[in-house]
Amino acid sequence: MPDELTYVDHAATTPLRPEARTAMLPWLGERFGNPSGAHRVARAARQAVDEARDVVAEVVGCRPGDVVFTSGGTEADNLAVRGVHAARPGRVLCSAVEHEAVLQPVAHVGGTTVPVDERGVVDLEALDASLGAGATLVSVMAANNEVGTVQPIDAVVEVVRRRAPAAAVHTDAVQATAWLPLPELVAGADLVSLSSHKVGGPQGVGALVVRQGTPLRAVALGGGQERELRSGTHDVAGIVGFAAALRQVLATRDATAARVRALRDRLADGLVAAVPGAVETGAPRDGRLPGALHLCLPGVESESLLFLLDEDGVCASAASACASGAQQASHVLAAMGVPAEQARGALRLSLGWTTTAADVDRSLRAVPRAVARLREVTV
Ligand code: PLP
Repeated sequence: MPDELTYVDHAATTPLRPEARTAMLPWLGERFGNPSGAHRVARAARQAVDEARDVVAEVVGCRPGDVVFTSGGTEADNLAVRGVHAARPGRVLCSAVEHEAVLQPVAHVGGTTVPVDERGVVDLEALDASLGAGATLVSVMAANNEVGTVQPIDAVVEVVRRRAPAAAVHTDAVQATAWLPLPELVAGADLVSLSSHKVGGPQGVGALVVRQGTPLRAVALGGGQERELRSGTHDVAGIVGFAAALRQVLATRDATAARVRALRDRLADGLVAAVPGAVETGAPRDGRLPGALHLCLPGVESESLLFLLDEDGVCASAASACASGAQQASHVLAAMGVPAEQARGALRLSLGWTTTAADVDRSLRAVPRAVARLREVTV
């Protein structure tokens, strides 16, 4: 086993930021309390949750009262899709490259998908053509988790307002939050999903922003926390850690994005040069998240490649990390028109706030070496 670990799977999860850990520790020890209670211990917990709410509001550009804390991005997406559908049944549409946390609830309520182009950008003409009276929700992610393509949310909102003024717009900003200023990117969206562990907060916490006036009904019934929209006792430590990570995003995002973008570009250029036939997938680099690099490598199978990379200390992935490690054909690549044969050799290298030049150097050595070994075997 190599001494050094090279973690290039930040789109799956990114390490806990020290500031988040420090902020959480008291809430795993001497500080406790149920934020829904009335006494001083409860009030202190509620104050901590409300301070975190203010931070989420600043990050998204919304009112603190619009923030509904959830158990993560998956729950936020489910609440958005199923909650709007429950409040106002009608036609639901989403892009074909959404995360399963959107795709499956949309399918569950009988919704349909809108195609994307070869960059992974939603087809606005197709969206226009499929909208009309009767549509109640359109969901298009701010940025994709596999290939990193950033969507034109303002243009999506414009089409929806024109063609289906009564419909709500939801955007899954889980991957975009660490990299892009959301107040600009998602300004027109009525609902915005966030996840803590993609920004350096703990796993198992997130939020759905529900702007005032958006029709939404709770999915889980219970104690009526979070304005009756998300019942269940708050994960105070998680919420506090999430907010601490978001503060770091606010303080460091632009510098981190510039630094990581340069590392990503060097990695992409180096791999395309070193691996014969390697093709960078998706939008041109400036249309993708700074940390996102997705390649299709002909003549290798993702699963074997990831195995060899792991042996070499390089933690990468092929598509999203949600399925039980099993490699399935990527619906994102299929929707972008990537031929199945090419998609078999998919490799996602996602960089993040802890990525260093040494990680890039080691990846630049390990990937060509692993591909060469696999090609030797298959010839
Ligand atoms: N949406 C996107 C775009 C994601 O990348 C993920 C995580 O993989 C999720 C939703 C789910 O978020 P969580 O892991 O917090 O449930």
